[in-house]
Amino acid sequence: MKRLFTVLLIFSLVLPLSGCKGGCYESGDGPLSIVATVFPAFDFAREIAGEQASVCLLVPPGSESHSFEPTAQDILRIQNCDLLICNGGESEVWLEDMLEGMEAEIPRVVMMDCVQALEEEVKEGMQVLEHEHGDEEAGEHDHETEYDEHVWTSPRNAALISEAISQRLCSIDPENAWYYSSRCEAYCGSLLSLDGDFRSLLQGAGQPTMIFADRFPVRYFVEEYGLDYYAAYPGCAEQAEPSARTVAFLIYKVRQEHTPAVFYIEFSNQKMADVICEDTGCKKLLFHSCHNVTRQQLEEGVSYLGLMRGNLETLKEAFG
Ligand SMILES: [Zn+2]
Repeated sequence: MKRLFTVLLIFSLVLPLSGCKGGCYESGDGPLSIVATVFPAFDFAREIAGEQASVCLLVPPGSESHSFEPTAQDILRIQNCDLLICNGGESEVWLEDMLEGMEAEIPRVVMMDCVQALEEEVKEGMQVLEHEHGDEEAGEHDHETEYDEHVWTSPRNAALISEAISQRLCSIDPENAWYYSSRCEAYCGSLLSLDGDFRSLLQGAGQPTMIFADRFPVRYFVEEYGLDYYAAYPGCAEQAEPSARTVAFLIYKVRQEHTPAVFYIEFSNQKMADVICEDTGCKKLLFHSCHNVTRQQLEEGVSYLGLMRGNLETLKEAFG
């Protein structure tokens, strides 16, 4: 009886800590401590750092990264980490404010700084909420250029980001530089082979237009493969009630392009995709932006490469 009690006590002490320390999802138990703000950063970090680090995913799985607010524990974690990997851009203004308030400079890799960032685009037919794009009346000069944040959706960008993470780790921990560089080389090899597969599939299919009955956080992907696109909302828009005009426009485009499928993204309510499919008879398919995943997916070992390979199969189904 006493033994059972001890076992239960140990469980109750240990369980809340495994995989989840202070709201942060943790992977690995190496000596270096890496904090990543979003899922792609987290996944690239563990691919490169391997057994040499513990990597913590700051924005809780399954939650909206654009409205994230750090807890006191998150702040401590960032203050004490060996490397911070963040995305940059509008959604991480909270991080800039926090870092400014810290005395010591935290070594970090900003994903948006590793690649050629693209300006945010409002495409024909997109439904934009008033507050999102400021007061257009204010004129050009007051309108600050906003860059699209979803840089990781191009596999080539993912390779550039991984290289930057590897270089940073090599300088922080030179003794294990060979380890990081060889892991990085292998990982980038897989990313570039994925890139080649996308390229040959999409070129073979005559560079089809992708229609998203949803938000559009995959601009870097379509840009990489020279695809045209239409979408209901910009990349980071809040989920809004679809307007009849947006739906009608996308239905018109589906017919005009003779597209066999419309896409929705992860965590979508798929309402608009359903309406369009019902009207046009086309298929609805998930295109995963790798923006965020659920806790269950993390526990099952979800990866950027796995999700993107899934997207490759989806595109084969749509256009192959
Ligand atoms: Zn976003």
